[in-house]
Amino acid sequence: MTLSRREFMQWMAASTGTAAVAGCAGIGGPSAGRVVVIGGGYGGATAARYIKLWAPDIDVTVVERNDVFVSCPMSNLVLGGNAQIGNVTFGYDGLRSRGVNLVRDDAVAVDASARQVRLASGKALSYDRLIVSPGIDFIYDSIPGLKSADAQNRVLHAWKAGPQTVALRKQLEAMRNGGVFVFHIPMAPYRCPPGPYERVCQVADYFKRAKPKSKIIVLDSNPDITSKKGLFLQSWNGVYKGLIDYRPNSELQDVDVKGMTVKLTFDSVKGDVLNVVPPHRAGDIALKAGLITANQRWCGIDWLTCESVAVKGVHVLGDATLSAPAMPKSASMANQHGKICAAAVIALLKGQPVHPEPAIMNTCYSFVDGRAAMHVTSIHTYNPAQKTLLPVKGAGGVSDKASDTEGAYAWGWARNIWADALG
Ligand SMILES: Cc1cc2nc3c(=O)[nH]c(=O)nc-3n(C[C@H](O)[C@H](O)[C@H](O)COP(=O)(O)OP(=O)(O)OC[C@H]3O[C@@H](n4cnc5c(N)ncnc54)[C@H](O)[C@@H]3O)c2cc1C
Repeated sequence: MTLSRREFMQWMAASTGTAAVAGCAGIGGPSAGRVVVIGGGYGGATAARYIKLWAPDIDVTVVERNDVFVSCPMSNLVLGGNAQIGNVTFGYDGLRSRGVNLVRDDAVAVDASARQVRLASGKALSYDRLIVSPGIDFIYDSIPGLKSADAQNRVLHAWKAGPQTVALRKQLEAMRNGGVFVFHIPMAPYRCPPGPYERVCQVADYFKRAKPKSKIIVLDSNPDITSKKGLFLQSWNGVYKGLIDYRPNSELQDVDVKGMTVKLTFDSVKGDVLNVVPPHRAGDIALKAGLITANQRWCGIDWLTCESVAVKGVHVLGDATLSAPAMPKSASMANQHGKICAAAVIALLKGQPVHPEPAIMNTCYSFVDGRAAMHVTSIHTYNPAQKTLLPVKGAGGVSDKASDTEGAYAWGWARNIWADALG
């Protein structure tokens, strides 16, 4: 027996007891709920993809201001001339093919009582559950010299991968052999604890090859190297000996853009290329939505669901969160938050119990040149008594040394996480 399309729809409606409504999320069933995700980065893309994988009957819409995803992990290699920006840039077709709606727009406001997100285009999106994964924005208030757009275009952070990464690479290429690269690192917590020190290695690798008379001055606000210290020092005191001048406790006071000078409490350091990473906080939309609860910077959440402690029905992921103890702000972690949140949002929308003891893991690779990398890894499980995720003692660890084998693993890690978030 063959059924016409109309007969098939009638049969589906009768057999499931539901009307097969055009535009509904699941095949032949009504939507089990509407989820809006702000930010298609590591946290948001993963949450969107996993909700659709695990519950195709939920409508998922991602609002993302950029038309492509540019990965911060591996972007330091672009600065070293060891990768191209195209190697870390991806489209959103993988998410679309999974049934996720992509809206290219800027989320400008959240009305939690009406359960609506307002977009810069003037449109509004209604939600049953909202996921906010906006990454970070920078705090320029304490750096008067960098307040103007013109100053920010000249002294780059390149701490959000994309046009600034390419522009900083161009500045390094244009610098004379014998020039000085001055790099300022903010006080922790910042996104990617080992990221600044990997950047130093990448620039050193480039200088060693192309501008051997040049120098790197690292001005670190922190009292010491915050991650993989022994491993970074192996290369700084080894292949890059004499190239890197590391100065801890270098608290930033201001930047004189005209004079190309970084001003510290007791010192001023002049350079040919300045790279200043300002302190960060949760992305602007988290501030506007009233999600920031800690130190005017980060969003407190319930680690069982990633739901905000301040605004009901809104979940926050990734770098924007107030990190659990010993939890880094990393792509690995944002990806894992995305999965905790996806499972919890599905359970909450369907009236099912939320998983009571999630366990997640983190791995961060750092390249010391174009081929060799090393890792740090940790496992974090939910502690019901303390109501937070805590690192498991004795699990994880760091490499003995950087190696080309780990460099290959690092690219494997990257390909996997890109497929896991966007595939
Ligand atoms: C140089 C560097 C190297 C790094 N290397 C590693 C590494 O090797 N391993 C690792 O695990 N981590 C690494 N990280 C850290 C990692 O990039 C971040 O932790 C991760 O991106 C956090 O994910 P997220 O979803 O919180 O934010 P993001 O990935 O930044 O995503 C936020 C998204 O939200 C969008 N957005 C923000 N606000 C709005 C709005 N209002 N409307 C619409 N869209 C909006 C942004 O455009 C962006 O796409 C590195 C970071 C840097 C800077």
